[in-house]
Amino acid sequence: TTLNPDNLIKKQKHDSNQSIDIPIKNCLMWFRTDLRIQDNIALHKASTMIFTKSEKSKYVFAIYLISPEEWRSHDVAPTKVDFLLRNLKELKESLNELNIPLIIESVDNASDVPGVVIDWCKRLRISHLFANIEYEVDEMKRDKQIFNLATFNSIKLEMLHSQCIVNPGLLKTKEEKPYRVYTPFKNSWFRYVESDLSILEPLPDLFPNSKSIRISYLETFSFKVPSSIPGFEISSELAKISRLNFPAGEQYCHSLLSQFILQKASKYSNARDILSQNGTSSLSPYLASGIISARQCVYKAFKANNNKISTGNSGIVKWIEEIIWREFYRQILAAFPHVCKNMPFKKHFKNIEWNNEEENFMRWCQGKTGYPIVDAGMRQLNGMGWMHNRARMIVAMFLVKDLLIDWRKGERYFMNHLIDGDFANNNGGWQWCASTGSDAQPYFRIFNPTTQSSKFDPTGEYIRKWVPELKHLDSKQIHNPFGVLKGSEFKKLGYPEPIVDHQKARIVALEKFKNFCVRL
Ligand code: FAD
Repeated sequence: TTLNPDNLIKKQKHDSNQSIDIPIKNCLMWFRTDLRIQDNIALHKASTMIFTKSEKSKYVFAIYLISPEEWRSHDVAPTKVDFLLRNLKELKESLNELNIPLIIESVDNASDVPGVVIDWCKRLRISHLFANIEYEVDEMKRDKQIFNLATFNSIKLEMLHSQCIVNPGLLKTKEEKPYRVYTPFKNSWFRYVESDLSILEPLPDLFPNSKSIRISYLETFSFKVPSSIPGFEISSELAKISRLNFPAGEQYCHSLLSQFILQKASKYSNARDILSQNGTSSLSPYLASGIISARQCVYKAFKANNNKISTGNSGIVKWIEEIIWREFYRQILAAFPHVCKNMPFKKHFKNIEWNNEEENFMRWCQGKTGYPIVDAGMRQLNGMGWMHNRARMIVAMFLVKDLLIDWRKGERYFMNHLIDGDFANNNGGWQWCASTGSDAQPYFRIFNPTTQSSKFDPTGEYIRKWVPELKHLDSKQIHNPFGVLKGSEFKKLGYPEPIVDHQKARIVALEKFKNFCVRL
């Protein structure tokens, strides 16, 4: 299909018998991890751009590229692809209301992406191309290629920061270096935002652009959102669960945020760690795909906290601090791009020897380690494409410290299954648990899975939900059935024996990490 604005305008003239201005310059918004209309800096710029009077009016177009090869190379989970497609449909509707047509194009080879975008620019007579920055190394490289191609074709490319409230690179230590540790970063973040609270204000809503092409004329060019992508299909059961737990669209997402702020945020400090409680916001899939901005989230929390950001309601402040973790991991990506290349943040850990026993890894993946809390977490991930934060920490720490399996295998498994898969947060979380990352504590932070279990799932409700073999056990037995039940009673459960003895595994891990550090 060639979509030439001039043809459309001719058709419009013919149909309406009205004369309209022929635009000589148009704008294109390229959507990537920012599938929203509201508080989208690049979209806002594209839509509100004013050309000089002599250049007359403009049309605004939008494009989204479906790029399975790129998704495959980044281990994007099928459940996340399903979520993206569902949100893309909503985005298309919202753009229709703004009179901005959304072009959807599939690209077979990731290396073709720059060429495809520029081809569309030429077809649509785009003078200005807009996109929000993605901080991962591969994405940066791709955008550099597009920049070169755009410049060659006299197209102005504007890349904007829209993922964070405080853009990566802005905050520096006293020594003018990027932060490597969260707490000083957080304090600096608060100081920066408190010095100008207007940073928190989301952009005003966009109004339908009367000068944009009327959608009716674009309907001849059918850019349908596919309902699935070959290679990324999900089972009907997972689709049902995913749709129920994570409905698509900005409108739903904002109602979820409002509900969280109103009903749960003030109790967040304690409730966030209790695995059976729905005490967190569940906004991560929406933040990861850009259905909502971090700024919209924090602004709402700030307003509910009587215009305070670092003081006031402790639950709200704690929640804002989690969003700051997200900002912290993004600035880590931007400042230390080696983390995008399978490298530990602390480079000296690169030669650590891992066990990598396939059998143990498989049992971890399937939730059959014999540690109920670990198994519950992994089965939640496999069953719904999402896992509670406390469980993520427990299962990650267990894989790395108890099984001594390379954190990168776990990181990859998570990406392949998470609906909220997000490189910065996932890599940051895994490296924190593996002690190769930005954790201020040294390697001897090792969780005891049984203690974690009784502390954060005291009634055993979370385990009962995800490990039905154990559902009739009481709250004392359920955390460690192998340790407390008689041999014959344990056998009847049909539940595996622990894959390792935690106490022994802990000593081995400590020794290994210590020896490794000594050898450096
Ligand atoms: P809430 O508690 O309501 O927090 C609000 C938002 O703050 C989250 O949606 C998220 O965007 C951000 N946030 C919360 N905790 C963290 C954190 N520890 N680090 C960075 N940002 C945070 N989060 C992802 O979005 N994608 C991932 O792929 C991911 N992988 C992880 C892997 C490991 C090993 C660990 C330990 C954590 C990972 N996290 C990841 C962080 C965290 O577990 C999830 O963001 C959180 O569980 C999402 O639930 P929520 O939206 O209800 O969070």
